[in-house]
Amino acid sequence: MNIGLNPRRIFLLTGAGISAESGLSTFRDKDGLWEKYRIEDVASIEGYERDPVRVLEFYNLRRGKLADVEPNAAHYALARLQQEWQARGGDVTLVTQNIDDLHERAGATRVIHMHGELAKQRCHECGDVALAEGDLLLELGCGACGRLGTLRPHVVWFGEMPLEMDRIGESLLAADLFVSIGTSGAVYPAAGFVDEARRNGVATLELNLEPSENAALFSDARYGKASVVTPAWVEELLNGAA
Ligand code: NAD
Repeated sequence: MNIGLNPRRIFLLTGAGISAESGLSTFRDKDGLWEKYRIEDVASIEGYERDPVRVLEFYNLRRGKLADVEPNAAHYALARLQQEWQARGGDVTLVTQNIDDLHERAGATRVIHMHGELAKQRCHECGDVALAEGDLLLELGCGACGRLGTLRPHVVWFGEMPLEMDRIGESLLAADLFVSIGTSGAVYPAAGFVDEARRNGVATLELNLEPSENAALFSDARYGKASVVTPAWVEELLNGAA
């Protein structure tokens, strides 16, 4: 299918695969952080209630790792697309499932982090969200309400509602082109975006290392490393060929 009809509004969804080449493990990586922790222990409210110290430690480790990694060519390509498309009167909505800050560090703006942000903390009592200035510890107090032991990472855990879903839904329906990059299509609601886009007549493109679980739903696909296929697609699009 030709998706080169000059899509004015582009909706981008990124997942862990776009950050893999920067050195941040995906869920599937064999010897990444996820191998050493069970997801249900560190990414659920039940896990946090059972053992908050372990959960805080897991996210402290992940936050610490951010300082050692850099955006890769795929992050830079999407930031460039956002800027150049905007300058041409188009619009690019960038939604990520990632909690890292590599899109922003590559120069992207208005990034919607539907699963939250590792760099931020939230008070589970008063809801205040602030930048985490160091490791999160149970001994710390909330800067807004002053309660002790109420700080948790500002990330969405299994069973919790992803953030900004109304804004995401509106942008998805208004899009001319939906592009999914480096995501397995296994985690809902993001995994359902392609079907929603398709049912609304939005062209769909998958960029991934290998076909994702819902690859059959996309009208077009390119497979390979994000750092290779993403800049190539952006280049073609900006040159009017994609
Ligand atoms: P996932 O681990 O389920 O799938 C990753 C996908 O990326 C796979 O389809 C894989 O084939 C692909 N991939 C791996 N290396 C790639 C590369 N170099 N280039 C292109 N594609 C590559 O990740 P997901 O779909 O994002 O899963 C959703 C959940 O994972 C989200 O909740 C997200 O918050 C969480 N997560 C985030 C991070 C992060 O913030 N960097 C890291 C791990 C997991």
